[in-house]
Amino acid sequence: MKALLFALLVILIVSAWFIVSTKCDKIKVEKFSSEPDNGPVLLVVGSVHGNEPAGSVAATDVANLFRNGEINLKRGTIILVTEGNPCGLKMKVRGVPHRAILPTYDINRNFRQSNNIGYPGGGRCPISQQISQLADQSDVILDLHEAWGWVKENNGSMGSGIYYRYPGSEPIALAIQSAINAGIQDEDKKFIATENWSQINTALEAAPAVEGKPYILIETSGQNDIQPLEVRLQQMKKAIFATLQKMGMI
Ligand SMILES: [Zn+2]
Repeated sequence: MKALLFALLVILIVSAWFIVSTKCDKIKVEKFSSEPDNGPVLLVVGSVHGNEPAGSVAATDVANLFRNGEINLKRGTIILVTEGNPCGLKMKVRGVPHRAILPTYDINRNFRQSNNIGYPGGGRCPISQQISQLADQSDVILDLHEAWGWVKENNGSMGSGIYYRYPGSEPIALAIQSAINAGIQDEDKKFIATENWSQINTALEAAPAVEGKPYILIETSGQNDIQPLEVRLQQMKKAIFATLQKMGMI
């Protein structure tokens, strides 16, 4: 009897895991191309961290503009990850909720194998794998995140910063910086742009599919709603449009 109950319990847990995984381990993606389809491919990754929603909201807004024909691409393709962590976003938590006790919890620590004990991700997170596949098809990667403070406060936060890496990323990063800062009055809240930042060797910037391609990380000051979502949303949209413009796509 006990063995039967135990077996039933195992079946129940495995089924629940399967159902939750089907829903939570699948990113939402929208793709738009010019007619004819020629030119560069831009990948915009919105909110792999569920407690950083502005990137997802911005990517969704931009996807709607393309779908409704309010903007069209002159050339190239834009791939928008509108929900980089669907269940994390709903629950407002950083990682993939049902993987909370596993090394595959934090999508942005799973883009490559690592023996670093601080970043145990082993490239096994299904969402990291889906995003890597999209990065593989792309020429430029824009990664949308939100931090808990302002980088200019020098307290360790990367907030209100644009961080770029690899050849070709600087002109895009500087264009994004001008576009966003045009809307900010307070000098202390203006975005910095820099290529001097330390690499996390399991984050998207270090993914084999990204390495060597222009990669730009945007960090608003946004976690815990330290600024209204609307402010961060506009900053993210400016980043996407400035990138499209700099790439000659709109
Ligand atoms: Zn983040």
